[in-house]
Amino acid sequence: MSLLTVGTVAFDDIETPSGRAEKVVGGACTYISLAASYFVSPVRVVSVVGDDFPEETLDYLRRRGVDLEGLQVKKGEKSFYWSGRYHSNFNSRDTLETQLNVLASFDPILPENYRNSDYLMLGNLTPELQMQVLDQLSHRPKLVALDTMNFWMDIALADLLKVIEKVDVLTVNDEEARQLSGEHALLKAAKVIHEMGPKYLIIKKGEHGALLFHRGQIFFAPALPLAEVIDPTGAGDSFAGGFMGWIAKTNDTSFENMKRAVIYGSAMASFCVEAFSIDRLKGLTPAMIENRVEQFADLVKF
Ligand code: AMP
Repeated sequence: MSLLTVGTVAFDDIETPSGRAEKVVGGACTYISLAASYFVSPVRVVSVVGDDFPEETLDYLRRRGVDLEGLQVKKGEKSFYWSGRYHSNFNSRDTLETQLNVLASFDPILPENYRNSDYLMLGNLTPELQMQVLDQLSHRPKLVALDTMNFWMDIALADLLKVIEKVDVLTVNDEEARQLSGEHALLKAAKVIHEMGPKYLIIKKGEHGALLFHRGQIFFAPALPLAEVIDPTGAGDSFAGGFMGWIAKTNDTSFENMKRAVIYGSAMASFCVEAFSIDRLKGLTPAMIENRVEQFADLVKF
């Protein structure tokens, strides 16, 4: 099975209660494709970087089986840049700066062989660009998931609602679910968001786990209590990569299998937060991932 993913490939400056990291590799698509590469091949990337982006990171992704044919490299331009500072609880953060750079003029052109991908993960990106990717597909993938954030709700809500209408799964955090729906209670928020289009809604609650909603059914996955959290950046994207990677690997979109996918997504997110940037997501093995998944199962078994 093939998984197509689109999103930012970026540089981040990050400040967390555990420390600082400057100009490190980040971006939604980077985390999604790396996390998904542990489950499925090919993972196809549509994104853009400037010629300042490290070639060794791209080589590493290629070695992991990530297809970068759809990654445009713009000569003389700078990659997308984001900086954020986390609050003492690690659960909330402030965006200090967003520089679109190459993203401002990005025209996402899908290589011909990407157009019939089996699964699609629309990572965090301008809603207009997410729509352009959807419009280029030769047929509808078996499952389309969308991740977005408050930034786009603030500045491009009308475009975002048009994309939301077209997807099967929406992943947002609890505050974003409240903002999007105008409802405080997550149960009510889920109902409103289902009516916008997505049959499945995943609400990520950071260290409090994740909720999967589908037509009145709810599944809850805890987050693994970790001895040390270093940097939550990319946790949501690693979750998305693990979630869609598992669905694509098993080629099963049933609600029961989606529950398993939520656990695999949570496992990938738990690795991500243990180091800055993509450092902890590198060099994992299937056994390490399975071991994490067992820890999740043990956590709630009684
Ligand atoms: P997450 O922590 O899962 O929300 O993802 C954080 C990643 O998203 C960072 O590595 C950023 O480079 C990237 N990012 C931050 N803001 C945006 C944005 N407005 N659009 C797309 N990607 C973003």
